[in-house]
Amino acid sequence: MGRNIESIDENMICDEFQEKVSEVLIRHKSILDIITKLDEYNARINRAVMKSVTSCGCISINASKQKYNTDTLEELSRSLKNHVDGELCEVCREKIEEEMGAYAFYLASLCNTLDISLWDVLIKEFDNLKTLGIYNLK
Ligand SMILES: [Zn+2]
Repeated sequence: MGRNIESIDENMICDEFQEKVSEVLIRHKSILDIITKLDEYNARINRAVMKSVTSCGCISINASKQKYNTDTLEELSRSLKNHVDGELCEVCREKIEEEMGAYAFYLASLCNTLDISLWDVLIKEFDNLKTLGIYNLK
């Protein structure tokens, strides 16, 4: 896979994160709690993004139908919009990052419970992206 020193360090950070998560997870040890916590934090991420629009106003969503009538996938990739105007302010960014961090905690917990390496998950996904590139069509 051609891993270099930097990726080995990243692997260790991922492993240490999983280990630390395992040490501190006490109250929500059951897979039932972990899965429902993942759902909860998914909703909290979405809520924090929407509050950036509706309460703070640092970003707005300006959505319309996407145009899929391009000749090539490259043109399509360039022409599709994310529908977000503006940039997150520091407060909103911090809130969203906090919710994403909690989500990552429970994702790592699920990995621990099922004996899955979070690093392996990331690397497999990254390899798919590298192999398929624009043709992964996500
Ligand atoms: Zn904001």
